[in-house]
Amino acid sequence: MQSANLVDLSLLLTKYGVKGFTMPMATGNVSQIIGNTPLIKIDSLSRLTGCEIYGKAEFLNPGGSVKDRAAKGIIHEAELSGLLKPNFSIYEGTAGNTGIGLATVAAQKGYRCVIVMPDNQAPEKFQTLKALGAEVIAVKPCPFADQNHFYHTARKMAESSANSFWANQFENLANFRMHLTTTGPEIYSDTNGKIDIFAAASGTGGTLAGVSTYLKSKNPKTHIVLVDPEGSGLCSYIQSGEIKASGSSVTEGIGIMRLTANFKEAKIDEAMTINDQKMISMLYHLAEQDGLLVGTSAALNMFAAYELGRRHQGQGKVIVSILCDSALRYQSRIFNPDWLKEKNLLPQPIDSF
Ligand code: PMP
Repeated sequence: MQSANLVDLSLLLTKYGVKGFTMPMATGNVSQIIGNTPLIKIDSLSRLTGCEIYGKAEFLNPGGSVKDRAAKGIIHEAELSGLLKPNFSIYEGTAGNTGIGLATVAAQKGYRCVIVMPDNQAPEKFQTLKALGAEVIAVKPCPFADQNHFYHTARKMAESSANSFWANQFENLANFRMHLTTTGPEIYSDTNGKIDIFAAASGTGGTLAGVSTYLKSKNPKTHIVLVDPEGSGLCSYIQSGEIKASGSSVTEGIGIMRLTANFKEAKIDEAMTINDQKMISMLYHLAEQDGLLVGTSAALNMFAAYELGRRHQGQGKVIVSILCDSALRYQSRIFNPDWLKEKNLLPQPIDSF
């Protein structure tokens, strides 16, 4: 990273209370090498739009997703503050990827890890968590107000156990701070400061908040777009101030019906909803045309990047989004023709939309 960026970064570290910051390393143990992911030029989408469209390859993190960063940041800050001590157990409620990130770092550092997940998530995530030595508890999906929601279940388990730490990715701003100090600066640096548009979906909002705050601090004109799946209330919240949703989505880990502390830090100029038909079409397009196997939220993000590119057709805008995880994390579903048929999600050419 350029040294000028480091000076600006130190100002931000002070402003947002970041303590004990360490840059991601190119060589090191599993926790140390989280981050520093490549920015992949998406040739097909760049050609089709006359813009430069990039995806940040978060699937290359050791636990396979963008959530390794949040896990590392949350554990690091908890160790510094004394909330997490040797031989403690880490508890978290998650759609899966944060659990995998926590289990990855926990295995490397010697913590026990207990993960609560809704039982409708892809089987690959359950298998991966168990392989990493985590204890996994599957609960029925239910509205957030229900005390049996995975979030409350994990909190209550941590509260009633000795020597425990609840990661609380939705409200814990260590999540936001990790993206503010790593993902944002990496994107800025890798585009030589020329990024025009950043678009990303939100789960906890940590990625969107951290990256948008950093990019806006460098250039307030950077256009920030929230990408939402159907069934999420965030798009309507940005457009009208009201959390409202219709439809549903097979995407995992994104979309929510409440405002979280991390999401509240996001600097958003525009919001758009992308449906699953466009998402699955992009997922197959990227596999076949670009050799890129990305997960469902990443495909949703890239359809938004493509749509933004078409809006600025031929203008050479630099557009960046996040490749949150890999298609392989969902392969038993998305590469299964019967599942696609059942969900009525047969891929179409992306220019048919
Ligand atoms: N994509 C996937 C696959 C995820 O699991 C998540 C996080 N749950 C996100 C995107 C969104 O990341 P964030 O929590 O930083 O908003």
